[in-house]
Amino acid sequence: MVEVNVSDFSRSLSDYEPIIGSDEVKTIMSLAERVRGAKVIHVSATPYGGGVAEILKSLVPLSRSVGLNVKWEVIVADPDFFRTTKRIHNALQGDMEIKLTEEEIHHYLEVAKKNASELDLEGDVVVIHDPQPLPIIKFVTKRSSSWVWRCHIDLANPNPSVWTILKPYVLMYDALVFTMETYVPRDVKGPKVFIRRPSIDPLSPKNKPLSPSEILRVLNRYDVDPDRPILGQVSRFDRWKDPLGVIDTFKLVKEKIPDAQLVMMGVFAYDDPEGVKWYRRTVKYAEGLKDVHILTDHDGVGDYEVNAFQRASTVIVQLSIREGFGLVVSEALWKGTPVVATRAGGIPLQIIDGVTGYLVDIRDYITAAKRVVELMKRPWLARILGSNGREHVRRNFLITRLLRDYLRMHIDLVSNVATRPQLR
Ligand code: UDP
Repeated sequence: MVEVNVSDFSRSLSDYEPIIGSDEVKTIMSLAERVRGAKVIHVSATPYGGGVAEILKSLVPLSRSVGLNVKWEVIVADPDFFRTTKRIHNALQGDMEIKLTEEEIHHYLEVAKKNASELDLEGDVVVIHDPQPLPIIKFVTKRSSSWVWRCHIDLANPNPSVWTILKPYVLMYDALVFTMETYVPRDVKGPKVFIRRPSIDPLSPKNKPLSPSEILRVLNRYDVDPDRPILGQVSRFDRWKDPLGVIDTFKLVKEKIPDAQLVMMGVFAYDDPEGVKWYRRTVKYAEGLKDVHILTDHDGVGDYEVNAFQRASTVIVQLSIREGFGLVVSEALWKGTPVVATRAGGIPLQIIDGVTGYLVDIRDYITAAKRVVELMKRPWLARILGSNGREHVRRNFLITRLLRDYLRMHIDLVSNVATRPQLR
C-alpha cells in the first residue's frame, strides 16, 4: 500500500465561503462536528490520471480540515493486474465479448489478498473506489469498520459473465455508492445504496482562476494561436471517450471554419494499459490534418495547462460513448466555456440542452459539428450557455457539496457516534 500525500492541496473550508456562502459552510461544519475524529480510509487504484484521483486529491485534505482523520491509499499491483482490471472495466461498461480466464481471476484475487494484508483497515469507514480494489474486503481478517464500495462507472448493463464474478464481493459491503440511480444493478439487494454526484474543486490548480497572461503563456508554449477559434477536449486516451470521433467532428467544423484549431489533451494513467494504443491510433487518425494538437502529460500537460486550455477553448467537446460522470464537463462549464457533449452517463446531469450547453446523440458527429460551429460563430450564445453552465456547477457540482454528502453518509454509517470514545 502506498499512502498518497495530498499536502500540496491543503486548504480550509472557509476558503470556499465566497463561492458557496456562509450558510453552506455552517451546515457542513455542524455535520462534521457529529463525526469529528472519525477515521476514514479511501482506497483507489491510482494517485493520478482520472476522475477518482481528481476528486480524492481535494476531498481528502478538505475532510481533514473539518476534523476527520482521513487517509488515501493506492493499491500496489503489476501491469498484468491492470490489464485484467481494464478488461473488467470494459466488460462492466458493456463490452459483451470479454471473458476472464481462470488465471486472470486468480491473479486479480491474489493482488487483492496481498493488498488487504498491507492495508491499515483500523478505521470507522473504509471507502473502496471502483473494481480494481473491490475484492480486498474478502481478505480482511478483522472487520471493525463500515465498508463502502464507491462505484464510479455505469453498472446498468454489465457483461453478465464478468458481473457474476464480481457480484459476491459487492454484496459483502455495508453500503454502495453510485453516481446515478440508473447505475445500480437490479440484482443487488442487501447493502445500503447511496447516490452521490461527483464534483470539482474550484480552488484546485485545475480550476482556480488564471490571468490572461498565464493563459497566453501556455498557448504560446504549445504553439496554439490565441487569435483563432479553439476546439478543446480533455480525456484519457480511451475508446469510450471516442477520440477518433472528436477528429471526425473537427474535420466537419474545419469545412465551415477553416482557421479552427483542435487541442486534445490526454493523460496516461498507469492503471490504463490501453492509453498508449489509443494515443497512437488518435495521432495516426489525425495525420495530414492541419491545426491539430494532441498533447499529453509527457508533453508537460498537467493541471495548470489543462486549466489554461479549458479557459482558452472557444468550445469544449466531450463525445463519450460511455461515461460515468465526466468531470471534464463540469470543469469546462465552471470556467464559463460552452460544452457540446453526448447524452452519455452522467453528462446530461451537467448539460441541460440549450441552457448550460448542447447535448448530441452518441456518434452523431454531424450534429456535434453543427453545434460547435454555431457556438464559434455566435459569441453571445457561447457566453450565455457558459455562464448558465458555471452557475449550474456552482449550485450542484462543487467539492463542498460532495463533502456534505460524504459527511451525511459517515453519520449514517458510524452508528453510536456519540458514545465512541475514539471519535471525540
Ligand atoms: N485529466 C487531466 N489531464 C488529461 C486528461 C484528463 O488532468 O490530460 C483529468 C480531467 O481534467 C478530469 C479527470 O482527469 O479531472 C477525468 O475525469 P472524468 O470524470 O472526466 O473521466 P474519467 O477519466 O474518470 O473516466
